[in-house]
Amino acid sequence: EGFASLGITGALLKATEAAGFDSPKPIQIKAIPPQIEGRDILGVAQTGSGKTAAYTLPILSSIAALGTKRLPRTARALILAPTRELAVQIEETIRLLSKGTHISTALVLGGVSRFSQVKRMAPGVDILIATPGRLTDLVREGEVKLHETRWLVLDEADRMLDMGFINDVRRIAGATHRDRQTAFFSATMPSEIESLARSILKDPVHVEV
Ligand code: AMP
Repeated sequence: EGFASLGITGALLKATEAAGFDSPKPIQIKAIPPQIEGRDILGVAQTGSGKTAAYTLPILSSIAALGTKRLPRTARALILAPTRELAVQIEETIRLLSKGTHISTALVLGGVSRFSQVKRMAPGVDILIATPGRLTDLVREGEVKLHETRWLVLDEADRMLDMGFINDVRRIAGATHRDRQTAFFSATMPSEIESLARSILKDPVHVEV
């Protein structure tokens, strides 16, 4: 019954229900339990399917169990999105679903001042939501460090490819912890996206809605 049956518990379950998420959507029913077991996910899903909560809740569940000690400039989890608008929406969803927990978030986006982003990253955060271009810059400058990042999400991977971010995405993924857990979502699966997914995922569970 509900999100509890998918393995969501405690403050997270409370926040999810308070957000008005009473019954899980199909993508959430299929994708949440394997991620809680530690599996990688390859998801074919459109905006509006509920994919944000499908990849966010398992990460929140794992991070909620950790302490609050964070290393400077690091992020425990990284979510890559093609556009600022999507990144902002993802952060809003995470804030809603993690209300009442100690989970911290940061945004790293192009087109806005990097000063506040660098300052926000300085003490380290739990979840960083970023667009690939600006994140590549801040990693190169040493303002963001990804070696402790053990959860990685690629959202709307096909759009990141269309926007020319493929090399940034590969480099960023390569800079994260080698024992990371990864979720890869795309609305379409052209062959270039499939080969990117193959190079980034380990034995993924395929989910389609
Ligand atoms: P997304 O596809 O992640 O952008 O989600 C689309 C919309 O559905 C967002 O406004 C979410 O807040 C909402 N949503 C996601 N999952 C649920 C759920 N289980 N119950 C109610 N609303 C949901």
